[in-house]
Amino acid sequence: MSGGGWVATFDDVTERRRVEERMTHLAHHDTLTNLPNRSMLRERLDQALSETKDGSLAIFSLDLDHFKAVNDTWGHPSGDWLLKCVAERLQRCLRNETDVVARFGGDEFVIIQFNLKSPGDAEKLAKRIVEIIGKPFRDKRHDMRVGISVGIALFPNDGKDTDTLLKNADMALYRAKSEGRNLYRFFEPAMDAMVRARRALEIDLRAALSRREFELDFQPIMNIASGEIVGAEALMRWRSPVRGLVRPDDFIPAAEETGLIVPLGEWALRKACTTAAGWAPLRIAVNVSAVQIKSGTFARSVISALAFSGVPANRLELEITETVLMDESDLVLKTLRQLRDLGVRIALDDFGTGYSSLGYLRRFPVDKIKIDRSFTRDIDSRDTAAIVRTIIGLGAQLGITVTAEGVETEAQLEFLQKEGCVEAQGYLIGVPSKASDINRLLKSNATIRQSG
Ligand code: C2E
Ligand code: MG
Ligand code: MG
Repeated sequence: MSGGGWVATFDDVTERRRVEERMTHLAHHDTLTNLPNRSMLRERLDQALSETKDGSLAIFSLDLDHFKAVNDTWGHPSGDWLLKCVAERLQRCLRNETDVVARFGGDEFVIIQFNLKSPGDAEKLAKRIVEIIGKPFRDKRHDMRVGISVGIALFPNDGKDTDTLLKNADMALYRAKSEGRNLYRFFEPAMDAMVRARRALEIDLRAALSRREFELDFQPIMNIASGEIVGAEALMRWRSPVRGLVRPDDFIPAAEETGLIVPLGEWALRKACTTAAGWAPLRIAVNVSAVQIKSGTFARSVISALAFSGVPANRLELEITETVLMDESDLVLKTLRQLRDLGVRIALDDFGTGYSSLGYLRRFPVDKIKIDRSFTRDIDSRDTAAIVRTIIGLGAQLGITVTAEGVETEAQLEFLQKEGCVEAQGYLIGVPSKASDINRLLKSNATIRQSG
């Protein structure tokens, strides 16, 4: 002070410190589960890799199986609750104080396991995780089940830096998923080759569209009671000059992942409609992927295919799978409803193979159910017969046409007829074939009508 003496000021920074700590915590943790988040895990891994010279560690990439179905069936609050329980269980699986489990977003988690003595340690942890997450989660009202798939990359063998290790653990996870889920896989260099093969397929596919290498086959659908052909399903084929004839199961997933299914599906729709224009009164069925409907231009391309071909809306049937209805956005349901209002029929394909088929029937009113061919195949087992009988009865009650897929034998057809199934499709009735063969079939239809 000017006259001597001094003033001391004190500032209580406890609160500020607390806020700062809280902010740092928030920046590094996931708010739902309170686990470390992606950025924190990467930091920990970077740090560990710079410190570890000879030690060994394992990176686990984890992804829940069927989590979407939980959200769908029980609602988001239940989904959130389940994620918290999964986080707790994962933490309990860890044996080592320093091991870290982080949530990467959605239903994805990553674990760093330190101080491995051998890969066997990682395997033990993976087994524990798969077993413990596979046990049911019980909240007050329901019993929920999910599984978990695990991909593992080991340092230093499978990578020496954070990006490579995470990428390779993901690749192993991808393998675990494709081999049936609810299991773990270690990274192998061959997986790299697989991913490269997939890239090559995608590049080829892109070129194939402009080179017009795609074709449609048509498989007849029969009304069981009258024996008449009442429709045909368009099935896509890729005639590649280098790969030969490629089946849809081998290229549709790649086309979906790259978005190429949008122009490809649009082509199929237009081609199917123009080909079938002269086939009245046959219905023409076209398979549609979720990606197409979500693209936002789907309704327009359907309307344009109808207008271009002159096929009336009620002769077009769009075959969707449950994954389409699993989508939570309004866009999908709105688009389907709009098309249905125009008279386009909607069929639920591969019925019974999904997770909550019955729920989807309530969510969207379909015109047709196609019983998956795995049921038809086992129709002589008592349990499967009971299921098929029930689906047929369900269809009758709801006023929905039921079509059995994959009918290959007279015995199967006889069973379906006895149970009152409306339509049948399969090798017994006709294999997928060229449009000209359908024309020939239509002539024999006329004969049936004359003689009947
Ligand atoms: P899907 O829609 O369930 O089509 C029926 C599949 O069962 C076809 O296989 C057909 O050839 C086969 N099939 C028919 N009858 C029998 C039978 O009696 N026994 C057996 N074992 N199989 C039979 P395909 O042509 O290989 O098609 C496979 C799947 O690819 C289709 O299953 C459909 O989901 C998809 N797909 C085909 N074309 C298109 C398309 O244009 N767009 C989209 N998004 N998906 C398509
Ligand atoms: Mg189909
Ligand atoms: Mg099917």
